[in-house]
Amino acid sequence: MQRSKRWRAWSNASLMRTDDGSQGAAPDEQRLRGIGVSPGIAIGRAFIGDRGPVTVTETAIPETALAAERARFAEAVAQAQKQLRRLKARAAALPGSAPDEIGYLLDAHLAMLANSRLVRGVHQRIASARINAERAVELEIENIAKSFAQMRDSYLAARVEDIRVVGSRLIRNLVKKPYVTYATLDEGAVVLAEEVTPADTALMDPRRIGGFAAVFGGAESHAAIMARALGLPAVMGVAGLATRARSGATVIVDGAQGIVILDPEPATLEAYRARQEALIRERRHLGRLRRLAAVTRDGVEIRLDANLELPVELDQALANGAMGLGLVRTEFLFLNRDDLPDEDEQYEFYAGLVRGMGGRPVTLRTLDAGNDKLPDALASSALPDAANPALGLRAIRLSLKERRLFDTQLAAMLRAAREGPIRILLPMVSSVGEIRRTREALDQVARRLRRRGVPVAEVMPPLGVMIEIPGAALAADALASEADFFAIGTNDLIQYTLAIDRSDEQVAHLYNPLHPGVLRLIEFAVEAAARRRIPIGICGEMAGDPRYAALLLGLGLRELSMSPGNLPRVKHRIRHLDMIAATRRAEAIMDQSDMGRIAALLDDFNAMAELG
Ligand code: PEP
Ligand code: MG
Repeated sequence: MQRSKRWRAWSNASLMRTDDGSQGAAPDEQRLRGIGVSPGIAIGRAFIGDRGPVTVTETAIPETALAAERARFAEAVAQAQKQLRRLKARAAALPGSAPDEIGYLLDAHLAMLANSRLVRGVHQRIASARINAERAVELEIENIAKSFAQMRDSYLAARVEDIRVVGSRLIRNLVKKPYVTYATLDEGAVVLAEEVTPADTALMDPRRIGGFAAVFGGAESHAAIMARALGLPAVMGVAGLATRARSGATVIVDGAQGIVILDPEPATLEAYRARQEALIRERRHLGRLRRLAAVTRDGVEIRLDANLELPVELDQALANGAMGLGLVRTEFLFLNRDDLPDEDEQYEFYAGLVRGMGGRPVTLRTLDAGNDKLPDALASSALPDAANPALGLRAIRLSLKERRLFDTQLAAMLRAAREGPIRILLPMVSSVGEIRRTREALDQVARRLRRRGVPVAEVMPPLGVMIEIPGAALAADALASEADFFAIGTNDLIQYTLAIDRSDEQVAHLYNPLHPGVLRLIEFAVEAAARRRIPIGICGEMAGDPRYAALLLGLGLRELSMSPGNLPRVKHRIRHLDMIAATRRAEAIMDQSDMGRIAALLDDFNAMAELG
């Protein structure tokens, strides 16, 4: 009971903004370990970011729409149950007492969703008061809270707090609002949350938010990629956060070491401030590389492009000397909204990027929806609950099924192609049929545009595929005969090759880009592309880590695309490399089967290159 209360205190502090920070003497410094997913140091006041209240307005529902409104509420309940079960499954493997604490609470929440007074009450209220579901939830909670308060029982008073938490989850599901509101935060606030989704990170303004830490999530999750994209220091998989964090307390997030320090001692604060300044100096130093070419010591020029998740990164890409955009993840256009972006809105965005890059090529990837990136507008219809969303109807599969959605995106891309060089990239391709069907779709869309009087270039933009499914890498020869270029997506390639969920902190330690199976698939794809003479690049997170640069170049890759913030460090490494030596070292590595030996051979090579 005691343990569950501590977790509850955390949830409630955030739900009801009742700061529980008034506990007397200065609290002791606490160090919590997690997975460092985005380097940098944030120092600021803690904001418990999971459950900011959502403003609800009351709307009258006509008699004829009452059944639909109740169905909408039932859907929100089902969604909440699913969320809670997912959290519970993930909590089960957390270390220490966390599974008990979290499990106990989540069970209580699940019980409140099973034909409970709350759920029945909301259904009745929608029908009798003829009001929208979210307002009915709000009123029902107030009603329950009032009747419990009259009982003056401390146990029941605690239950009311739980009911409020559950009610808030239901309301958020109904209004399809992200779980957090960051607009009113103090500058430099550090967000501490149960879970941070890609949609949440898309709302984080790095000018306001110093960084974040979360109980759930791994280094290759899309939220982690977003954090790196925004330059926000972040740590995920921090089990102890749930029981220890206090809203408003001073907190340090060390995104490189994967450490969160709550209530740091003055000496710790001072040491971290000094490290923060050193990092800023280092960044400035690397910034001077911007205008220099990414060329090895023996004169081989490497193409360094930027990945773009969010529009703010265009400036960063240019500032860090990107030669083009090697991967534009278009998902963010579809997140944090109820509707879908139409052709004009998409066109404006793509054309803006093409113009912004001033003639440098822009690789636009078609929608990679699914798994942890679920646009609300598609959540219920196009993406029904799948047992295995990572293996389900997502990415190119979804696009080819939802042709209207796909055609709209392709039309916007073809229009943007008139503004400058673009390439179209397809996510999660597994067979040549998907490329052929996309080419047919492109031709149809082009014809339709011409009929509408919109001029479209005679020559279609190059159409490429992501190599991110093991079967695609193994069938790279066949795919290379249909595709115009390849982009290796190591994030998913590693996930699917090693059967490791990239966003699951419990298996994060097994996620290893140096696994021989992964390296062989990369080599296989590079060789297939070379045989067919089509360009091949790599745009997974592996490309942005200087540690792997020598190996990737040694395997034959000449195009790397990465988060803009990584460009200077990777360029620095490339300029210290000798291509002939890197190729020999890659050959030696490919003869190994032991990951430890592979890592040693690579790190040793890097250390020598840095010295020489
Ligand atoms: C990848 O899988 O490596 C990739 C670049 O795509 P995303 O991270 O968007 O899935
Ligand atoms: Mg991918």
